[in-house]
Parts: sequence; structure tokens; C-alpha cells
Amino acid sequence: MTDTLVFCSGPDPFDAWRDALAPLLGEDVRIEDAEAVTDPASVRFALVWMPPEGFFERFPNLELVINLGAGVDRLVARDDLPDVPITRLSDPEMGKMMAGFALFAVLRHAREIPHFEAAQARREWAYRHPRAADEITVAVLGLGELGALAATEIARQGFDTHGWATRPKELPGVTVHCGDDALPELLGRADIVVCMLPLTPATAERLDAAAFAAMKPGAAFINLSRGEVVDEAALVAALRDGHLSGATLDVFAHEPLASDHPLWTLPGVLITPHLASVALPKSAAPQIARNIRAVQRGEELVNEVSRVRGY
Ligand code: NDP
Repeated sequence: MTDTLVFCSGPDPFDAWRDALAPLLGEDVRIEDAEAVTDPASVRFALVWMPPEGFFERFPNLELVINLGAGVDRLVARDDLPDVPITRLSDPEMGKMMAGFALFAVLRHAREIPHFEAAQARREWAYRHPRAADEITVAVLGLGELGALAATEIARQGFDTHGWATRPKELPGVTVHCGDDALPELLGRADIVVCMLPLTPATAERLDAAAFAAMKPGAAFINLSRGEVVDEAALVAALRDGHLSGATLDVFAHEPLASDHPLWTLPGVLITPHLASVALPKSAAPQIARNIRAVQRGEELVNEVSRVRGY
């Protein structure tokens, strides 16, 4: 019998993913768009990004849900999720893209680009002597697949780089701190704080007024993971009163960011529309195919998500 992989994503093009996966899966796995499934009972695998409510009920024989992205918060928070393994994407191109964006954002603040942009708007030659990278402390919160790559890329540029996670780990050039007790001190020493934390019950609004108050006066804040990890009102207040010097924000509690949101116009703030990193069919397809084969052969999965931890 032919198994079916059902695809469902608003932003991702079905054709591109089908074309990348088909040569790897061969004849015995049919790839179908959710709207065009011919035999729901044959669907054993689902490749999804935020599928609509009721989606999973249609496929009683599902054995694997593949999240079409790295962040699984929207998926694991659902109450209609079938009791089957969930995997996430973790492909090298996605990691490279995120690490590159994180480095760009760190350099934006380290090299005081907002100051020069404001000066340019005034046609002013506002020279400021650059600081050496090793005099600038960067804290990366969250050292997962993407966060660890971002931290090592930042360290490679010579910044005094620190990371924060729940468990210890070895990363070249990165001093790793663990657990809640370590956070306030780390926030207090960093010139630039980069948020790479997944959204879970433990991290929701983890960066609240107290966390921003603990940050060094004049520090810059970068959020590349999920908007809900931040108390946005507290962030706005910290930027407005000048405690924070600026921010680079790619993610927001409500996307798209409302046109009247105060973050759009605060000085030193760069807003980008959730594009720090995206899943690319060509580089992500091999690991998807590998997990589908693993289910067919009863082998171990890669990049499996823990529902208990939520990431
Ligand atoms: P992972 O799920 O691989 O890792 C999460 C990291 O956060 C781990 O290091 C984990 O610690 C740490 N962590 C989790 N909970 C806590 C906590 N309570 N206290 C301290 N540390 C904690 O994440 P990735 O690095 O792959 O991705 C991070 C996020 O980036 C994704 O969840 C997603 O939301 C976002 N993302 C954003 C994109 C964009 O375009 N802006 C694109 C892709 C992803 P430990 O190592 O100890 O488990």
C-alpha cells in the first residue's frame, strides 16, 4: 500500500516542498496537499505549519507530525494534537541564516548603527570611535539548535559571549550559564541581549519589567525567537525611558505588528517581519525523508520534540 504525506501550510509553497521531497521518498510515499488528499486513511505522515482546527481528525492513521519550522509552540499548545511523535526542522541552512541574522543584529548595536542613521537624517558627521568586540559583552538566551549557532557565530567575531540555557553545554568561545538564578547577573553584565528562547509555559513573558530593569543601562535588546517571550509593554517602557538604547525585533506577540504599535517609532528600534530564518525545501527535505523512512522501518527519529518541555 502507498503511504501518504499530507502537506499543510499557509506561507509555504506546496509545489516546492513536493518537488524537493519526491525524489527522496520515491514511489511508495505519495505527497498531497491537504486540500487534495485522495485517501485520508493512507495518511501516515503530516508536514505542517499551523494547520487549521480539526485538521488532524481527518487522518486517523497518522504516525508522525513534522513541524515545518523550528518553533513548535503553536503546535504543542493545541488540544487536538494526536498522540504521535512530533519532529521539528533543524537544517543547516536555516541555522546559517539565523546565525547570520543574529550577527547582523549584534553588529548593528555594537557598531552603533542607529546613532549613525539618526545622524544621517540630520546630515550630520557624528563620529564615534568604535569599541573593540572583546570590550562588548553579548548574552544569548537559549542555546538550542539555532541559538547555539548564533552564539558561536557571535563569539567567532570576538565578542565577550555568554549563553543561557537550562542545562550546561560546551560551545566554542561561549561562557554558558544555567538556570533561573543565573539570569539577573547575566542580564546585568551584557551590553547586548539576544533572545533565542522557545515559547513555552516557562518562558512566556520571561523577559518582563524585572528582567529589563536588571539589564545594564544603555543595553540593546534583540528578539529573534518569539514575541510572547517578552512583556512588550515593559519593553516599550524600557526603551521610552532610555534604560535600553535600542532594539532589533523580528518577532512580536501579535503578528503582523499593528500599525499603531509604539515600537514602530521608538528611536533605535529596527522592526523586521519575522524572517530571521526560514525553512528551505532543498536543505530541509533530507531530514524529513529520513524521519519518514525511520517510521516505516521502525527506527529512531531525529529532531524529535519533547511535549513535556515544549521544545
Ligand atoms: P531549541 O528548541 O533547539 O532550544 C531551545 C533553547 O532554549 C535550549 O538551549 C534550551 O535549554 C533553552 N531554554 C528553553 N527553556 C528555557 C528556560 N526556561 N530557561 C533557560 N533556557 C531555556 O531552539 P532553537 O535554538 O532551535 O530555536 C529557538 C527559537 O527560535 C524557536 O523556538 C523559534 O521560536 C524561533 N525561531 C524564529 C525564527 C525567526 O525567523 N525569527 C525562525 C526559526 C525559529 P537546554 O539547552 O538546556 O534545553
